[in-house]
Amino acid sequence: MDLADLTFVGITHHHSDHNADLGTLLHLAWCDSLRTPVEVRGPRPLDEMMEAFFRFSDADVSTRIADEGRPPFRGLVRHAEVHQAGVVFEDDLVRISAARVEHPPMDAFAYRIDTADRSFVISGDTAPSEALIDLARGADVLVHEAIHLPSIEASVARSNGTRLREHLIDSHTSVDDLGRIATAAGVGTLVVSHLVPADAALPDEDWIGPARRTFSGEVLLAHDFRVI
Ligand SMILES: [Zn+2]
Repeated sequence: MDLADLTFVGITHHHSDHNADLGTLLHLAWCDSLRTPVEVRGPRPLDEMMEAFFRFSDADVSTRIADEGRPPFRGLVRHAEVHQAGVVFEDDLVRISAARVEHPPMDAFAYRIDTADRSFVISGDTAPSEALIDLARGADVLVHEAIHLPSIEASVARSNGTRLREHLIDSHTSVDDLGRIATAAGVGTLVVSHLVPADAALPDEDWIGPARRTFSGEVLLAHDFRVI
């Protein structure tokens, strides 16, 4: 997308694979040709992190404002923390709602994006979640994270063993549960995404096949730049 068109960023939780480029994305958009505000939502400590990024980037930002006549960066970034379920942003085109999901010990949210003609839900990282099913009820597309439990043992062996295994099981959703979740929510399409472990090198069928046994809608495997 054209970075000047950026209007909303939703952070699901603050593991680095979900937020690492937040400041850089906004800064890059501002350095490009951003002239309209961007709304940023996410769990705490989002406000503290954004203020820290404004300090981090100030040497560059203040120089560019003086030398290139750019508008104030801070004035174009409207950040607010999400503390509970509900609508987090709404304009003439979209309504974005959040639900608290299960990704201990993180504060974590899923988002639903409703437009005039389609609705999308992004689970973020979560164990099976009734709140997510409620949020996703009747949506056209559910993008849901997935873990392939037989494949995590190599990662577990390289780390602190039992603790990592417990974390992965408690905070992610097995591929065997995805079909039940999509059926319970009544969505049209399930997109299996955020594959754990990322280096499993499994055939596509191992990620999407189990869901097809308990969900009659369309099941797709996410990959970078896929358009749905
Ligand atoms: Zn996570």
